[in-house]
Amino acid sequence: MQQLYSYLSGRWVYGQGQARAIHHAVTGEPLYQVCSDGLALAASLDYARETGGKTLAQMTFQQRAQMMKAVAKHLLAHKEELYEVSYQTGATRNDSWVDIEGGIATLFSYAGLAGRELPDDTLWPEDEPIPLSKQGQFAARHVLTSRPGVALHINAFNFPCWGMLEKLAPTWLAGMPAIIKPATATAQLTQAMVKLMIDSGLVPKGALQLICGGIGDMFEHLDYQDAVTFTGSTQTGQKLRSHPRLLEKSIAFTMEADSLNCCVLGEDVTPDMPEFALFIKEVCREMTSKAGQKCTAIRRIIVPAARIAEVQQALLQRLAGVQIGDPQLEQVRMGALVNQEQRDDVQQKVAFLLQNGCEALCGASLDKLAIAGERAQEGAFYPITLLYCAEPFSHKAVHGTEAFGPVATLMPYQNTQQAIELALLGQGSLAGSLITADEALATRFIRATACAHGRMLVLDRHAAAESTGHGSPLPLLVHGGPGRAGGGEELGGLRAVKHYMQRTAIQGSPAMLAAIGREWVRGATVIEEQVHPFRKYFEQLQIGESLLTARRTVTEADLVNFACLSGDHFYAHMDKIGAAESLFGERVAHGYFVVSAAAGLFVDPGVGPVIANYGMENLRFIEPVKIGDTIQVRLTCKKKIRKPQKTTEDRPHGVVVWDVQVFNQHQQAVALYSILTLVARQEGDLPERLT
Ligand code: NAP
Repeated sequence: MQQLYSYLSGRWVYGQGQARAIHHAVTGEPLYQVCSDGLALAASLDYARETGGKTLAQMTFQQRAQMMKAVAKHLLAHKEELYEVSYQTGATRNDSWVDIEGGIATLFSYAGLAGRELPDDTLWPEDEPIPLSKQGQFAARHVLTSRPGVALHINAFNFPCWGMLEKLAPTWLAGMPAIIKPATATAQLTQAMVKLMIDSGLVPKGALQLICGGIGDMFEHLDYQDAVTFTGSTQTGQKLRSHPRLLEKSIAFTMEADSLNCCVLGEDVTPDMPEFALFIKEVCREMTSKAGQKCTAIRRIIVPAARIAEVQQALLQRLAGVQIGDPQLEQVRMGALVNQEQRDDVQQKVAFLLQNGCEALCGASLDKLAIAGERAQEGAFYPITLLYCAEPFSHKAVHGTEAFGPVATLMPYQNTQQAIELALLGQGSLAGSLITADEALATRFIRATACAHGRMLVLDRHAAAESTGHGSPLPLLVHGGPGRAGGGEELGGLRAVKHYMQRTAIQGSPAMLAAIGREWVRGATVIEEQVHPFRKYFEQLQIGESLLTARRTVTEADLVNFACLSGDHFYAHMDKIGAAESLFGERVAHGYFVVSAAAGLFVDPGVGPVIANYGMENLRFIEPVKIGDTIQVRLTCKKKIRKPQKTTEDRPHGVVVWDVQVFNQHQQAVALYSILTLVARQEGDLPERLT
């Protein structure tokens, strides 16, 4: 058996002591020995903080995103090596795709999100300044900074790649190094991916370490700046969460555990409706993909009592067509569980459910299980098992026992109120779904059950063709659930990044806030120069650089011309009587005219470094502009985001966000907003840095 090495403090190492074995899920043959006893595990925490942590903390969000994108590209180029190892875990090609390419896509997604939304800086101003005083010289804003700690990720066996990358992406973006502790059962696949990342040379030293085996006394060496995440069983999770060191130091702990996810067929759905077929398809797919070893898999199938017979028949018919066996065979649709221990665990849980109000409609016994493939006869296969619980309000086991395999329980309800109550009996789930064509029913159900779910899918014929399905967590959506599901939030776009950062409310004068945030805020001093800011390249522009324009008096002709040009003859601009009776008391200029006139005042028309105007944000019209009013504009460089160059042909550029304040003759603000421009850079990126 091959020894499975850990990667600690920059070296591949193997422990000394009692080893655990990893078996091939399909053939049962022993493959690897795993042992981390005696390794310098505690030292790896310091190494991460001192080496990886320091490097990552100095990189800007944009640089971290570029690193992650490069790593994701590298992994994608080597994905076939990972598919080979994934087969050892019992996965079909489809299962592996979700794990390997789904994980890589998550890394890409976070890199893209950061590229678009996060600053080219190490500090993240989270919100707009909050005024705290009448004169405007005392304000506050929340900022996020990197914690000088390390994230210890303890992962489950079912997604060795995705489970690692979905946590690694927000961790790295936050500027934190990570130590990955994969579940031993499938650690070889996580190790293969970590090895690819380390060998690529793209990951900063100390930003990624791997423990194959136990974590020893590492918890004793954690400190308040560190973070621990856990995915796995409730039992282990509760034990780790209540570790005295975590409590003593208030160490952040995120948990994802068992989840009895439900899928509800709406009362409105009849067998002749497309929604009925969608329901059957969704349930079958969730029961069989990854052989049911998915934290989001459907475990409770909640169906109107009047439809139970039809649903049962349709499910049994469809499930009977799923060939189980060696995933390398073309006809096989469902592979093996990860190992014999997991199969025993599923068997025990099914036995428990059968003793507690459930009966088996199919599966539940290994006796007649037909496994395709000669090599696969000793594998950890488990039959697709559909249970039925006639009295789901009397038997609570069905709402609390998760058989982590191709197992789900069908149960009836009498009315929508009962369906709601059954969904809530899961006591907190990662995902739930409702299949219905009735908007009123969906509204009622979702409003009543959202409190117990991290993500909910409402499926109907319109969404079906493009739906990503009940069981697929997406990088931009919350992945995590309350209560039994652990109370965590592993994904959810930039929300997930914030879990690894420190949020601080900074109070002070606008000038101080601008300096600290490297982002100009209203009320801070401005820099006024002879050269128009539109004539400056990205590198030349300073934050706070500002232009006060000439004035313009708004005339009746402006209103008439703009109304004719735009076709907007709204009464408040064009009807003297209507306008007199309106909120304004007289005709006022179109808001869009004010914005257009403002552009006319601040733009420098000649060909120059400004490439394009590509957006406007947070537009508010504060005061009306009346005929005879005189407007003036202050344009100020608020922030700059340097954009990486993609190809040598691309014109190097950055995004400049400008604060725009339009005033009237009384110095009252009439319109406030930001505009975004693409501004050329003088310097291109070196060819090796092109993304
Ligand atoms: P587990 O025993 O709780 O293991 C989960 C992880 O914790 C593994 O990496 C495991 O490492 C590690 N671990 C176990 N004891 C530990 C300890 N004392 N200190 C530090 N780490 C420890 O879970 P499992 O039996 O492998 O997983 C099966 C169950 O997890 C399933 O039945 C399912 O209910 C649940 N699950 C939930 C989700 C979710 O996202 N909600 C996802 C997957 C699985 P070793 O493998 O080395 O023991």
